[in-house]
Amino acid sequence: MKRTESRQRRKNSICALHRAPSELRRSHIVPEFLYKPLYDSKHRLNVLSTGRPPKRHFEQKGIREKLLCDRCEAQFGVYEDYARGVLFGGKEIEVSMANPRGFEFHVDYRKFKLFELSILWRVGVTTTRFFNNIDLGDHAEQLRKILIGEQPGTTDEYGCILIWPVSHRDIVDQLVISMGMTKIEGVPCVRLIMGGICWFYFLSKQAIDPRQSGLFLQEDGSLRIMQGDFGINGYLTNFAKAVYTSNPYFFRKTNDKH
Ligand SMILES: [Zn+2]
Repeated sequence: MKRTESRQRRKNSICALHRAPSELRRSHIVPEFLYKPLYDSKHRLNVLSTGRPPKRHFEQKGIREKLLCDRCEAQFGVYEDYARGVLFGGKEIEVSMANPRGFEFHVDYRKFKLFELSILWRVGVTTTRFFNNIDLGDHAEQLRKILIGEQPGTTDEYGCILIWPVSHRDIVDQLVISMGMTKIEGVPCVRLIMGGICWFYFLSKQAIDPRQSGLFLQEDGSLRIMQGDFGINGYLTNFAKAVYTSNPYFFRKTNDKH
């Protein structure tokens, strides 16, 4: 769905997902629980951290938009409850910096994949300015159909690679942001930072090669969050500099809270 069409539908109170006139809710574009980092500064799962979370200066908690009806909102709510349970309800896990593979989970493929896709679709169709550097083109309609049918397709279709950056944690942990789009070997790719991790979505029905699809959520339920930087370091370094220039007290304030 093009953003102009999207605006028009919103104006006419048409649910963006099932496309019928409805009373629209002020829907979250990014689920609320992803506004806090998955792992705390000691690299443990956040859920077990008892300290007060540091104040986050970039928080745009609750980017909302009149987007979905009650029923569609409830449908997404099921995926979100499930994903929150997986990501935040787990046991304490020590992050081994020596382990390049990162964290591994076992999940319900259908629910978790639909969760991933529901976010991708929402950031693509929202008219809020925070995600206007994302253009899904025809994929928006494909994704809408997948979500309507609740059939997530195969591992290769719209695969997502999750990366936990090892550097610039002070920045990453405070962000919910779109890093815009890039192309990886010719495939358009949407890059988001949410929950302290980077989400790389490949807008394609086929992975470029098995090494890549091996990093996506697998149909047997294997979910991996990779550790590393994978080229995002440049983006984060520049971002950190821009933040520091605009607010030189940022880092000091943040550190004081720890
Ligand atoms: Zn609806």
